[in-house]
Amino acid sequence: MKELIRQDIDRLPEILQEAMQLSLRYLQHLDAGPTAVIQPQIDWPALPWEGLGAKGTQHLFEQVFLPNIVASSGPKYWGFVTGGTTPASIAGDWLTTVFDQNTQSTTGVGDCSALLELQVVNLLLDLFSLPDHYMGAFVTGATMANFTGLAVARQWYGQQNKTDIARDGLRTDIPVYAGTPHSSSIKAMAMLGMGSKQIIQVPLMHGREAMEIEALKTLLPADPSQPFILLASAGTVNTVDFDNFEEIAKLRQDYNFWLHIDAAFGAFAACSPAHAHLLNGWGQADSITIDFHKWLNVPYDSAMIFTRRKHATLQMQCFQNSAAPYLGNPAEQFSYLNFVPENSRRFRALPVWFTLMAYGQLGYRRIVEQSINLANQLADSLLGTGYFHLAAPVRLNTVCFTVNPDFADRINRDDLLHCLNETGKVFMTPTSYCGKSCIRAALVNYRTNPEDIGIAVEEIKSAVQKLLYP
Ligand SMILES: *Cc1c(COP(=O)(O)O)cnc(C)c1O
Repeated sequence: MKELIRQDIDRLPEILQEAMQLSLRYLQHLDAGPTAVIQPQIDWPALPWEGLGAKGTQHLFEQVFLPNIVASSGPKYWGFVTGGTTPASIAGDWLTTVFDQNTQSTTGVGDCSALLELQVVNLLLDLFSLPDHYMGAFVTGATMANFTGLAVARQWYGQQNKTDIARDGLRTDIPVYAGTPHSSSIKAMAMLGMGSKQIIQVPLMHGREAMEIEALKTLLPADPSQPFILLASAGTVNTVDFDNFEEIAKLRQDYNFWLHIDAAFGAFAACSPAHAHLLNGWGQADSITIDFHKWLNVPYDSAMIFTRRKHATLQMQCFQNSAAPYLGNPAEQFSYLNFVPENSRRFRALPVWFTLMAYGQLGYRRIVEQSINLANQLADSLLGTGYFHLAAPVRLNTVCFTVNPDFADRINRDDLLHCLNETGKVFMTPTSYCGKSCIRAALVNYRTNPEDIGIAVEEIKSAVQKLLYP
């Protein structure tokens, strides 16, 4: 008898066929798939001595775990900011696994998959109408993009003070100003030794999550030689608010700062001519974070950190993997190995290239505009029920709403969400905004259509009925 692993090589066509059949069964029922699993029941098998082979394992998986898979890439999963997977991106991602490249060097010494990554950066600059003074690098998500951008900002801050923080360590507090930073930037500050409590809170505009620029000025160092970091938002998670990048760019005349913009999903406003103005001036940023597993609808995990070309040396100082002679001389050749936190890197560029080539500028304009229209439709329907009001206007793709005060003592937010999510028909998540308990629905999945909005509103209405008339 051949070893199981050798048998599996012979059976590869069957193995992949079975995986494809399961994929198709799943994707064909995705639109109606459960958006929550209430109590996962899992009977975990132990590590076998002799294995089961690939097919046996898939069958086991189908029994043991498949029933617990949540349709989070389906059209009615509106919690957090969760994207789906376009058909082309699924194919690209599948092939990424098959090719199993380690995407680092652009010189063709070893694999040259990084050449495609460079190409994808150009396509993305085009998609977002960003100037070509940016370099881009794939990372796992916006959290790591914020980490990378803030790492280079930290190195820049050190350079302004004639120190090399990457080499010598952090010896001083770094002033970081922000209005409504995403929690992942605060986490990044913790990871970078900059301290999660060190963010200097900038007052917000009235009823907004955007910085009040005049108030910011009063906080800033009067001496223009004093460097600082400004952490701005293009799309906050509660109300999808945008800082005013044109006003921020004007501050460059009088102040010396690094501008990092977290545009994890707000960047996609660039794809809709009616909303692109929200980003005016963002091309002045030193670094920009954009997520692709959200509104680009590619599989997890995928995001990019864009940094200005002129800061490439600073970035390499942060991420230089110089102590390994067998990896080549970093000064001679560009390698992502010396440009981002990870040394080994999945070929994340491939699913993104697939989806960009498959659907183009127009395809993405339609996806983005559709999400925005549906968010407005959902908001109108919720208001129409009489039970809710909006915590903030719908600026883009997210509806943030609260229970109407007339019903507040009878409809508890957590009970309502529990009742709603338990149905498995639609999924939303809680938040708190302006001291109020709110519910959020973030629409970024290309599969979502007007019928889904109708189903969700009916489910909410019946959840309300259950609470009002138990
Ligand atoms: C989702 C999000 C993040 C974190 O992104 P991950 O992809 O989960 O790492 C950061 N910032 C903003 C604005 C986000 O929406």
